[in-house]
Amino acid sequence: MKLILATGNEGKIREIRSVLGDRFSPILSMKEAGISHETVEDGESFLENAAKKAREICEIAGCAALADDSGICVDALGGAPGIYSARFCGHHGDDEANNRLLVEKLRGEKNRSAHYTCAISLAFPDGSEKHSEGHFYGEIIEEPRGSGGFGYDPYFYLPERGLTAAELTAEEKNQISHRAKALEALLEQL
Ligand code: IMP
Repeated sequence: MKLILATGNEGKIREIRSVLGDRFSPILSMKEAGISHETVEDGESFLENAAKKAREICEIAGCAALADDSGICVDALGGAPGIYSARFCGHHGDDEANNRLLVEKLRGEKNRSAHYTCAISLAFPDGSEKHSEGHFYGEIIEEPRGSGGFGYDPYFYLPERGLTAAELTAEEKNQISHRAKALEALLEQL
């Protein structure tokens, strides 16, 4: 069965292909399928946003579509920035400004616990859907470490590893990340 991935992120596409490789064929990015569409992410949860994206692409493409939505939830901030992670600082996709604001908001705060969440939704043309979620737990530190990953990774410290997510290799992160766990949970339902 053909599957379209509702993302333009090459790293995500590689990871999803490697996990779901033999369940669907072909697995195409939106670009490869000739689809250009921007979903308005106005849901109130990661899952609502992922499900909306998957449904819209499924309808446009007429075949199965998979979408994800992710972000970081900080305990001392009541779960913020959550679904607003990409635009925490007020505008979209400015990692440096987002991190600066996060460190600022947690200055003097003892509780540094945080987790990444990833929700995945898979929509089929018959209207059925599968959903899954994965989490990745760590702590927010004040000084950045490492140059791998993206987004909040240089400030996302894994106490049991003694490393930040930005100090892991891509392979290591892909084995333990929120996205990897959500994909594994999805695979169990297929
Ligand atoms: P998206 O779901 O890929 O659009 O991610 C939303 C936002 O959450 C990103 O812009 C990042 O700020 C943050 N985020 C999600 N996953 C990660 C991750 O694995 N590392 C760092 N930041 C992440």
